[in-house]
Amino acid sequence: MVKRGRCAGSLRFSKNSGRCVSEKNLFVHHPCLGTPAWFSYAGLWRRKSAVGENVETLKRRTPLLDYLRQHNWTGHPASRSEFVGLCPLHEETRPSFYVNTRKDVFYCHGCGQGGDLIRFVQLSRGLSFRQSLASLDPEIAPEADFTAVLEQAVAFYRQQLDHYPEAMHYLHRRGVHDPALFRELGIGYAPGGTLRRYLTAQGHSFDVLRRLGLINARGADALYQRIVFPLRQGEHIVNLYGRSIGSAFAHRFLPGSKGGLYAWEKVRNCSEVILVEGLFDYAVLRQAGFSNVTCSLGTHLNDTQFGQLCEGQRTVYVTFDVDQNQSGQQAAEQLAHRLVVRGISARHVLLPEGHDPNSFFVQGGNAHQFQSLLGAAQP
Ligand SMILES: [Zn+2]
Repeated sequence: MVKRGRCAGSLRFSKNSGRCVSEKNLFVHHPCLGTPAWFSYAGLWRRKSAVGENVETLKRRTPLLDYLRQHNWTGHPASRSEFVGLCPLHEETRPSFYVNTRKDVFYCHGCGQGGDLIRFVQLSRGLSFRQSLASLDPEIAPEADFTAVLEQAVAFYRQQLDHYPEAMHYLHRRGVHDPALFRELGIGYAPGGTLRRYLTAQGHSFDVLRRLGLINARGADALYQRIVFPLRQGEHIVNLYGRSIGSAFAHRFLPGSKGGLYAWEKVRNCSEVILVEGLFDYAVLRQAGFSNVTCSLGTHLNDTQFGQLCEGQRTVYVTFDVDQNQSGQQAAEQLAHRLVVRGISARHVLLPEGHDPNSFFVQGGNAHQFQSLLGAAQP
């Protein structure tokens, strides 16, 4: 078995910051600082201008610098309206993280991230825009309600699993059979045509279900004949993944971000992490006793996911599908390269031709053999 990793201590906010301030000449004002043109509340909240106003109120109430200091960030004056310190978003030894107190924004020359308070909370905690708002002031965002609705949907799908033998049959065919794992991951089944009635009876409006993407414009359930995995970030469900058990397109998410790496909280302190691309790969590895697994839900990692792998020192075993057109292998190599550039040790695990971790186990592979593949993985 892969050994449990050492605890890296994780939260970078708690580290000692603010060294190296004598090299002031290095820190020129960046042209991007204070002009976050890429960021528009108007676009996100066109339908809810009241929320936009609340966001402005919230930012006035909690200036970015205050928030950072409350989270143990140390900054030193760099100019009349600027502070500089170590970046809380990436590892560094020389301060390149700037806060402009007049414009109430930040910019990091090291990782290139910048924006306002909400953007910072999004990046540092891996939350969506709405979740960041809710974490700063639960009364502002309707996110709490949305999360509750998704929880009810997941509970409903969980119950359906026992009533549809075809769903259980599919799970068994994919080598996933441990009831404890079903419970832990919250795996359920969406038969289709039943969720809307259930949630409406719970008092949720058509509008809320539609905005969450649980139903389509015609009012039909969006997930139909699919095994459902809730995707969580911390406590909150951020999305649902549905795997078709029929002839429909295999993969489906609700609208919006897929969030960070799957079950990242469980592995973030591991010094060795196995990264797979699919949740059925994840499930069979967990069942086989590998505890340090995470999943990117596809071969393309979003910024949050990539950033998570780069927190602290670790070795990442990239284990993507070995498919005929080589796309999984190319993606694995590119990712390994990007990780190495960021100082993370990356190894590329080569499965037998035509296999992914799921099929490897389904077709008789065992934990010992998989461990050998990890051992043979190339940097
Ligand atoms: Zn940075």
